[in-house]
Amino acid sequence: MKEFIIIGAGQSGLSMAYNLSQHKKDYLILDANEHIGAPWLKRWDSLKLFTPTEYNHLPGMPFPFPKGYYPNKYEVADYLKSYADKFSIPIEFNQKIISVKKVNGIFEITSATANYQAKQLIIATGPFHTPYTPPCHADIAKDVKQIHSENYKSPAQLQEGDCLVVGAGDSGVQILSEIADTGRKVHFSGTDKIPAIPQTFLGKTLWWWFTKIGFLSVNRYSKIGQWLSKGVQPVIGTDVKSLLAKDNVLHMGRTLSADDCSIKFQKGSVSSIKNIIWATGFKPNFFWIEDISFDEMNYPSNYRGVSKDIDGLFFIGLPWLYTRGSATLGGVWKDANYLMTHILAKQAA
Ligand SMILES: Cc1cc2nc3c(=O)[nH]c(=O)nc-3n(C[C@H](O)[C@H](O)[C@H](O)COP(=O)(O)OP(=O)(O)OC[C@H]3O[C@@H](n4cnc5c(N)ncnc54)[C@H](O)[C@@H]3O)c2cc1C
Repeated sequence: MKEFIIIGAGQSGLSMAYNLSQHKKDYLILDANEHIGAPWLKRWDSLKLFTPTEYNHLPGMPFPFPKGYYPNKYEVADYLKSYADKFSIPIEFNQKIISVKKVNGIFEITSATANYQAKQLIIATGPFHTPYTPPCHADIAKDVKQIHSENYKSPAQLQEGDCLVVGAGDSGVQILSEIADTGRKVHFSGTDKIPAIPQTFLGKTLWWWFTKIGFLSVNRYSKIGQWLSKGVQPVIGTDVKSLLAKDNVLHMGRTLSADDCSIKFQKGSVSSIKNIIWATGFKPNFFWIEDISFDEMNYPSNYRGVSKDIDGLFFIGLPWLYTRGSATLGGVWKDANYLMTHILAKQAA
């Protein structure tokens, strides 16, 4: 039995591991993937961070690039791997946990091939679990290629013919931009009003301004934090206005329904689409943890990562766990620090 188990070896699990190592705690990380950085490497090939180097540091090891540089997904995966190596973080891979329950004060943690036990448990499985695709995708002709953004890599995956990108978040507009740059005709489905902010303003990075105006310190329990965390998150770094003004980009409004080859949008129907990228997000899945309650978005009930239901159970890496920075490389350390302080205080009491 371990004193602590962490489920998930992404930036959140590694930050927690760093803290546990610093305090010489006995712990182990379990991860479903076969190596570190897998969630980053699975994302599309041209992905670059919207946070520059100086906002990507995990605790105890700086991100190894010059200030102002926007790393790609390979560089992030390499950094996470070096981080785990540097601090000799113990990780068991290929262990997707399918059930967690607390029995007689001990967490019983089960994968398809092994059982583990721990006195305290930290869930760091990230915010993106089940890809969501609107139900009308099932009414679309079989010869139309449909890809969720989770599986999109590059325009080379697409078959001949027109394309449709659905979703007005960061993923949707970045994928739209990449496909539009190939000259192919791309229909875009999403809201008319996409809030967007540039990556730099008056010579300073967006994240510099965020820090300056205190945005990254606003927490979800404050009035303004409640408003910000529940609102639409603006697209960062894509010039959406110019993108939608391109000759080969047709903005169709929201997708309403589909009938074989014909897809109906707010602004009309189209029958020529041969490829669809659904950048329509993910639903959280924490239902494999027994005896916990959920909020209206199906995230586990917690205060700053401390479970409201089960003593010794913690969460890290959820969007707006405490602030906008909670689910970022450079912000997760604050939540890890808070949890570590909480754990130590409880042990000392
Ligand atoms: C397209 C995109 C761009 C982004 N750009 C930036 C950016 O520019 N800057 C920034 O700071 N952040 C960015 N983020 C946000 C954030 O940094 C990432 O989402 C980050 O990957 C979250 O880290 P995590 O450790 O919480 O979760 P993840 O990286 O998702 O890691 C979770 C780990 O848990 C494991 N796991 C999951 N379920 C189980 C299970 N049941 N059993 C065992 N293991 C499990 C997975 O295998 C995975 O290794 C971006 C996110 C996306 C999607």
